[in-house]
Amino acid sequence: MARTPEPNTAVGPGVRLALRAASPAATIVSVGGGEVGGRDVVVIAGPCAVESEAQVLAAARAVQAAGGHILRGGAFKPRTSPFSFRGLREDGLDLLVRARALTGLPFVTEVMDPRHLEAVASRADMLQIGSRNMQNFTLLDEVGRLRMPVLLKRGMSATLDEFLYAAEYVLAGGNTQVILCERGIRTFEPSTRYTLDLNAIPMLKRLTHLPVIVDPSHGTGHAWMVGRMASAAVAAGADGVMIEVHPDPAAALSDGEQSLTPQAFAKVTAELAAVAAAVGRRLRIGSPAILDAASR
Ligand code: PEP
Ligand code: MN
Repeated sequence: MARTPEPNTAVGPGVRLALRAASPAATIVSVGGGEVGGRDVVVIAGPCAVESEAQVLAAARAVQAAGGHILRGGAFKPRTSPFSFRGLREDGLDLLVRARALTGLPFVTEVMDPRHLEAVASRADMLQIGSRNMQNFTLLDEVGRLRMPVLLKRGMSATLDEFLYAAEYVLAGGNTQVILCERGIRTFEPSTRYTLDLNAIPMLKRLTHLPVIVDPSHGTGHAWMVGRMASAAVAAGADGVMIEVHPDPAAALSDGEQSLTPQAFAKVTAELAAVAAAVGRRLRIGSPAILDAASR
């Protein structure tokens, strides 16, 4: 029989802050004025990498137009090959700041190295810790010292217990604003880039009070699969999704194969709103700033 990690137990010398026993109420993480982990399903979207001003502004407008809530885009990119495009670095961060100013969308971007932390944290609304860095304990410790939202992606070969222990590093530093992201795991199946572990959603929701979101773009590697798997994630109880969107996926410098066009993304958000309603959640179309303005 499969071994289920025991919910509601504190293990080891310290109390495990990520587990439900430590905090029975759901943690709600506030990002740019919007909430992640409440009733609303949150859509994070944008290009894999920030490539140019025109590209990131077009992507941000597309995300905003289709009802996304948070912009994503990598300025510091972890790449398998050092010869691939590794990001615009600080210039990329400045372009994200510009995109936020134009659209009102808060943004999340990856921090790969404690040496870049100040540059990233001083500009971003949320820090992303990538799959390859889920067990970079120095980075987790440093991020734990901050008081800002952290999107922690599951290591591609990490068990859920290892994932929760990684979150524990951030929580132990006093930073309670952690969102977990299932992004696909390595299996024997070669037809998809990774295998999106939908089991992780109800299991994590049972074990932890932290919000859980899903990245079907990396989880599948195929743009045509993203919408269906995003719907499946919301149906399974995810608090949000993170989707790669590019104004011209064929020309993307990274992850074009799995990136949606603005048109395809708009269709996906509309479908997600219907799925969210069917499972007692709500997907509000529009960024917090836009929704606030509309309700005034
Ligand atoms: C990304 O979000 O672009 C990314 C690199 O993700 P991961 O760390 O999950 O591979
Ligand atoms: Mn990517």
